[in-house]
Amino acid sequence: MELWYTEKHTDTVDFSIKVKKHIYSEESPFQTIDFFESEEFGTFFTLDGLMMVNEKDEFVYHDMITHVAMATNPSIKRVLVIGGGDGGTVRELTRYKHLEKIDMVEIDEMVVRACEKYLPITACKLHDPRVSLYFEDGLAFIHGKVNEYDLILVDSTDPIGPGEGLFSEAFYKDCYTALADNGILINQHESPYYPNYAREMKRSHSKIEKIFPISKVYQFHMPTYPSGHWLFGFASKTLDPIADFDPKAWEAFGLETKYYNTELHTGCFALPTFVKKLLKE
Ligand code: SAM
Repeated sequence: MELWYTEKHTDTVDFSIKVKKHIYSEESPFQTIDFFESEEFGTFFTLDGLMMVNEKDEFVYHDMITHVAMATNPSIKRVLVIGGGDGGTVRELTRYKHLEKIDMVEIDEMVVRACEKYLPITACKLHDPRVSLYFEDGLAFIHGKVNEYDLILVDSTDPIGPGEGLFSEAFYKDCYTALADNGILINQHESPYYPNYAREMKRSHSKIEKIFPISKVYQFHMPTYPSGHWLFGFASKTLDPIADFDPKAWEAFGLETKYYNTELHTGCFALPTFVKKLLKE
């Protein structure tokens, strides 16, 4: 009998992947965690029935959450990842030899342990000596911190369940305070395509705009997320991702990347008309 994984993208659109095996299913105190093996996407895992990471397209998400900020300010030294339990964002960060501190605060230790076992492709650098793991709520972790990070990457689930507070104004204010003067905040911005996601994107972007003088949105192509069209927010007190970007400085790191490149850096901020309109509304 054929086995298919199906998730709801909207009330009238489902997305399905043919699976070879359902290899793990556990309830953590925060969410339901499932791992599957598939022909097309390799091993993938879901939280509460939503695709998080798979072996085939994870490079897109992890390149784009990490390298756009690192290239805008190549002297970033202290980084905080909020969420990111699969380890893919940390893996990309550890490629920068000059980084001094990489903190990751993940609410659900079970996600990390399961990824270490089933998704070593992303969880492979969590033992780098510069990495410190904290298993607690990112909201509480960041509260009260002042000028402790040059970069905060919010690698969260959607704004439902444990991830909800990571899309709130109070949280963005705490991020602002925790960042250095030239600090950068990158956060999950959902998809502009389906109205249920676009609403959330618009809501969180308006909150960030009120707090950070520089607030932009960039896009990338994520085949397994709803509509395949996904966004990150870029916010900073002082740095502009295009005006302050020096391609040569990033190229000097000599990193090979599969998705990010310096032409794409500028290109990903060029948004389709309907997205620009949405952001202005
Ligand atoms: N790339 C993924 C996506 O957008 O589908 C996100 C990957 S990562 C697995 C998301 C992580 O955020 C989850 O492991 C979840 O446990 C964590 N998370 C959710 N809310 C959190 C919170 N308040 N504090 C820290 N981590 C949180």
